[in-house]
Amino acid sequence: RPRAAVVVTGSELLTGAISDKNGPWVAERLGELGFEVSHVLIVGDRPADLADALEFVRGASLVVTSGGLGPTADDLTGEVVASFAGVPLELDEPMRAHIAEILAAWARRTGFDGPALEEANRKQAMVPRGATALTPVGTAPGLVVTVPEGPVVVVLPGPPRELQGMWPAALASAPVADLLATVPAARSRSLRYFGLPESEIAATLRELDTTGVEVTTCLRRSELEVDLRPEPGVSTDALADALIAAHGRHLVSADGTSTDELVAAGLLDKGWTVATGESCTGGMLASRLIDRAGSSAYVGGGVVAYSNAAKTALLGVPAELIAEHGAVSPEVARALADGARERFDADIGIGITGVAGPGGGTDAKPVGYVCFCVTTADGVVLARDPRLPGSRSDVRERSTDTAMHLLLR
Ligand code: ATP
Ligand code: MG
Repeated sequence: RPRAAVVVTGSELLTGAISDKNGPWVAERLGELGFEVSHVLIVGDRPADLADALEFVRGASLVVTSGGLGPTADDLTGEVVASFAGVPLELDEPMRAHIAEILAAWARRTGFDGPALEEANRKQAMVPRGATALTPVGTAPGLVVTVPEGPVVVVLPGPPRELQGMWPAALASAPVADLLATVPAARSRSLRYFGLPESEIAATLRELDTTGVEVTTCLRRSELEVDLRPEPGVSTDALADALIAAHGRHLVSADGTSTDELVAAGLLDKGWTVATGESCTGGMLASRLIDRAGSSAYVGGGVVAYSNAAKTALLGVPAELIAEHGAVSPEVARALADGARERFDADIGIGITGVAGPGGGTDAKPVGYVCFCVTTADGVVLARDPRLPGSRSDVRERSTDTAMHLLLR
């Protein structure tokens, strides 16, 4: 399997001021294309460090860089990559004219103008000899540079929106397209499980024949993702079937589809709407449900009822019920679900109330104890009251995950 590497530049990434979005995004795309990603390196805006990083991954077939294409003095990626390839930078006149237009439009909008713009324009239109320039998504063009006896280097801008926007053009460029034609298709497969400990999968895998398939398991919050990457010519079907048979009860999807997609598809399919009555998750479930475009088709609305008074006033939870069972109780979760469903005239209501911690736990209701209830207009009731591990934010996130999985049922 051919190897690929990612070199992310930006001093702001090394100080921790912002966290890298491009390395993981590009690495995932490269994996999908069938490359083995050997390294994701992060370097500051220092030319010598960038040159070292490129040297380090010289053996890869494909190297993708992010950042440092802008007009400012610290944007030096073009220069460094040109010298890595052993070629000079040359002014690309059509590109200069194209960038001039973009900058002129920007100057008209903002009122900024002057010699600095002309300087910026020239700098961004400098292209290593023989390289392909990729049309800017912002103002900086990307580059595809073929290094003699070395990798194809794809040079992309740092802002994630620009990098992602330029990705299709990078793949379509002749040097990358030629390289992709030699990469065996990935045909990898992901299985997702909920509520299954990693040790269980590990035990199952020890019993199974995994020859020719690279298996990675990854705990993503409450879900366990198992990725199967076959060597060329090997099928993952038998292994996937065996894993499904062993832990089918916990299986969420066998084709990588996410829980959120499944919840949306399930609600759309039935033509149902959902309403939430949330206490400890404080609206996280509603936010997650409306994260997808088109969610107005299946989300009625939600209420964050954190205090007891709010539970009563906003969702009609009887004060006596709270007094008798406590605000964190299966009974109150059910009343929150019913209240939300009725208030929003929805088909399904879901109530969540729990002890997020770190304080407030008791022996009977420790930190992490969370009550869930899903109710429908025709009287179906689905209730759970697990004890979820972790910090306050872990408990709240896991509560949201648990609620999403209840909606799948
Ligand atoms: P520009 O023309 O915007 O300067 P550039 O290619 O020079 O483009 P950078 O200067 O490296 O890009 O980054 C510009 C901004 O984009 C950064 O300040 C940061 O906000 C964002 N950015 C850059 N790289 C990353 C990254 N790896 N992850 C997340 N955000 C990033
Ligand atoms: Mg910059």
